[in-house]
Amino acid sequence: MSIQLKWPRRLGTRLTLSYILLLAGTTLVFTAGTAAVVFFQMRAQLAHFAVQDIETVEGLLSFTADGKLKVRDDYHNHPESKQILEHFLEVLAPDGGVLYRNDRLTNRSLGAALLPGEGIGGYSQRSGTLSDGTRVVIVSRRHTLAGRSLLIRLAHSEEPVFHALEQFLAAAALLFPLVMGAAALAGYRMSRRILQPVQNMASRAGEITSSRLHERLPVNGTGDELDHLAEVFNQTLTRLDESFRQLKQFTSDASHELRTPLASLRSVGEVGLAGNGTREEYRELIGSMLEEVNRLTHLVDELLMISRGDAGAIRLNYSAVDVFDLARETIALLEPLAEEKKQRLVLAGDQDAIINADPVFLRQALINILHNAIKYSPSGATTSLRVAKETSQSVVISVQDAGPGIAPEHTPRIFDRFYRVDQGRSRDAGGFGLGLSIAQWAVEAHHGSISVSSARGEGTTFRITLPVFLEPKPIETPKLSATQKPI
Ligand code: ADP
Repeated sequence: MSIQLKWPRRLGTRLTLSYILLLAGTTLVFTAGTAAVVFFQMRAQLAHFAVQDIETVEGLLSFTADGKLKVRDDYHNHPESKQILEHFLEVLAPDGGVLYRNDRLTNRSLGAALLPGEGIGGYSQRSGTLSDGTRVVIVSRRHTLAGRSLLIRLAHSEEPVFHALEQFLAAAALLFPLVMGAAALAGYRMSRRILQPVQNMASRAGEITSSRLHERLPVNGTGDELDHLAEVFNQTLTRLDESFRQLKQFTSDASHELRTPLASLRSVGEVGLAGNGTREEYRELIGSMLEEVNRLTHLVDELLMISRGDAGAIRLNYSAVDVFDLARETIALLEPLAEEKKQRLVLAGDQDAIINADPVFLRQALINILHNAIKYSPSGATTSLRVAKETSQSVVISVQDAGPGIAPEHTPRIFDRFYRVDQGRSRDAGGFGLGLSIAQWAVEAHHGSISVSSARGEGTTFRITLPVFLEPKPIETPKLSATQKPI
């Protein structure tokens, strides 16, 4: 059976735990380090005292007439030498024979035979344990007295040092849990206090539903990270709110547009059913019904394209496109319409402008613009298309008509979805106000731009600028809704 330790889920607890683990680790390392430094310093001090004591002992040693080693009589009165009583003293002959042991040492020894080189040319130092278990630091020194070589060993008990160390560690062990407990409590409270605003933001954000997108999170103005988070969240809400508003507007405009042809179909149908018309009259009724159906189909096609664009479902198929040829094809497509209104379509400009584009969508953009030019220009007017290689990197297509022009207050909005300058007149002419928004989307999908310059009574010029991109490179299709203005 294995026990798996899980990191707590709550951020506050996790923060506190990390902080406590770090603090505990630091405290343990610090305590162990301090204990080690103090311990080794005290031991070094003991050894130092032992060296001083050996120097004192050297001055007090002498041989009696019968060749016995003795420590001078005033040994006990001498203030410094008195301390030697409290330590362990042993004097050995070079052959290891014991010449002297002090009372404290009695029959215990400070190590048996002489170690090689012990006490020669300075002081030798080592640690050891006496037979009763007393831990000592032993200092040895060779000394010559009356022509005889001696080895003096003097030891200081290390027990007081170990005792002090144990006391220090015991006190630390006792204080450690108390300090950690207090730190954990303080850390937990602090993390709770810091995270409380996050909690508040989360519960506030949880209350914001699609119908309450106008609500915002409070920004305290402290300029800290949480304030920044609230600001970013609020900006996202603003964008969402705007998208929702546009979506609602689009749905309501679309329903409105669908209602008119449907109502017209219904009333034509009702007239057909109610009357006892001639064959010719019924043919006329069916004809006008089909006209409405065509309008409806056209609207549904445009709506479908917009919604596919919004969903990012349209993929452009790039290929090398000769813009002049594309313009010629578009003119050929709309020529019958122009002829109907006795208008002229003229094409001029650079014949070798090749760009990397999707011909289907680019043609659609041109058709929408040229169709408008024909639609809004009077009979007998001329519309000019011009293709120009503006730079080595861009191509410009301009469509200039001799129509009524657009008043300056309307120009910024003509690319908006369902926007028509003259609602009644445009409806009669068959437009839903979607043509330019689709054209704009197609141009922007090619990383190009579209602009309009117009004045009332002076005609209108649309200008499409497209990048060349001769090297095929993947271009992401922008979503229709990505433009600031609804299209
Ligand atoms: P519509 O289908 O109504 O033509 P568009 O999106 O194509 O919709 O155009 C939006 C509006 O811009 C039109 O309703 C019209 O009022 C105005 N407009 C577009 N092109 C021209 C033009 N060449 N001359 C005058 N007005 C234009």
